[in-house]
Amino acid sequence: MDTNDILFERARQSIPGGVNSPVRAFGSVGGSPRFMKKAQGAYMWDEDGKRYVDYIGSWGPMILGHNHPEVIRAVHDAVDQGLTFGCATQREILIAEEIRRIIPSIEEVRLVSSGTEAGMSAIRLARGYTGRNKIIKFEGCYHGHSDSLLVKAGSGMLTFGNPSSAGVPASVTEHTLVLEYNNVEQLEGAFKQYGDDIACVIVEAVAGNMNMVPGKPEFIHAMCELCTRYGAVLIVDEVMTGFRVALGGAQSLYGVVPDITMFGKVIGGGMPVAAFGGRRDIMEKIAPCGPVYQAGTLSGNPVAVACGLTTLKLIQEEGFYDRLSAQATKLTTGLEAIAKDAGVTFCARSVGGMFGLYFLDQYPQGFADVMKADAKSFNTFFHAMLDEGVYLAPSLFEAGFVSIMHTDEVIDETLEAARKAFAKVAAQQ
Ligand SMILES: *Cc1c(COP(=O)(O)O)cnc(C)c1O
Repeated sequence: MDTNDILFERARQSIPGGVNSPVRAFGSVGGSPRFMKKAQGAYMWDEDGKRYVDYIGSWGPMILGHNHPEVIRAVHDAVDQGLTFGCATQREILIAEEIRRIIPSIEEVRLVSSGTEAGMSAIRLARGYTGRNKIIKFEGCYHGHSDSLLVKAGSGMLTFGNPSSAGVPASVTEHTLVLEYNNVEQLEGAFKQYGDDIACVIVEAVAGNMNMVPGKPEFIHAMCELCTRYGAVLIVDEVMTGFRVALGGAQSLYGVVPDITMFGKVIGGGMPVAAFGGRRDIMEKIAPCGPVYQAGTLSGNPVAVACGLTTLKLIQEEGFYDRLSAQATKLTTGLEAIAKDAGVTFCARSVGGMFGLYFLDQYPQGFADVMKADAKSFNTFFHAMLDEGVYLAPSLFEAGFVSIMHTDEVIDETLEAARKAFAKVAAQQ
């Protein structure tokens, strides 16, 4: 037993499953999760002192790499001034102004502490604004774990979803319609049938919670057009893609203007900041200006906002996203070439600083395709990479992330590890 095994055993005595968020438990790949002790740049070290190249970046926030000196200094300075006041602060104005400057669709923005809160609040707002009940989400997209979003597709195409988690009454999800991602026809059908009671459509324009599946432009544009035609609110969930696939997020890549956008992850730079914002006439329906209730004791926390604000400043350096994208592309094309040499069925792609690895012969278009991936090969690959000191997401259904600290040297080290890992996968086939 190594230190990680011992800690996992001990953690399970006091924490359900030994972890505070399920994917950390290595449930699908097996083995003990690694207990991390520290990180720097593109690397993390576990409690055994083993070093890993980090491709999860805390699931997205660490776009600058770990421990950027300016971010750490900003956090220290904020800590020295007090941890939380529960009152308005000037820094909240600064981050709101910064978000508006970067994302033109944002007229007003409300800070919260997690993406889950942003999603839950955005949906309540859309319902309050439209006076309608129904919401449309897509299979494989994740918008946090609030009740009405924990739904799996119904048995027929246009039936309402059933709860996908215990503890969620069917009466809570009866207004949630789950449709296939990238299926324009189904979306049109849903609007034709229920259009006058659809409060909102919520979508990840580049889906990152079923591995990575970019929305087809015609799908995203049809969604915009239908929302406008039927008076529904378009909520684009940029918790993962915001400041990640491009400075302006997925909406800048597709050229769409959401009514409401959700943010999280990068926006906090590694601390709990998330947000939802958009059209002023919609946002002004929120308390204290309007009748839609929403609140938070630690919303806009001064230390967390200092961290996010400094991160948002640093990612606007000249050429940042060109460099980030180039490194992600170098990784995915490198992995594809090595897999091909080894004779392993595999492909990979990236959008900005986010990437997907697929044990499939072609890029998936939606959840059903992602489900077809070869799980056994992935698990072998994952553990071989981990042994070689490369930490990938421990699930076939997660995207990966690079930071600006993933230099050529770091990517080369990764590809060297991948040569051994793909050989193991090939040997097992
Ligand atoms: C991570 C994520 C969320 C949830 O954010 P939390 O901060 O984990 O609650 C919501 N939507 C998307 C697209 C995400 O990737």
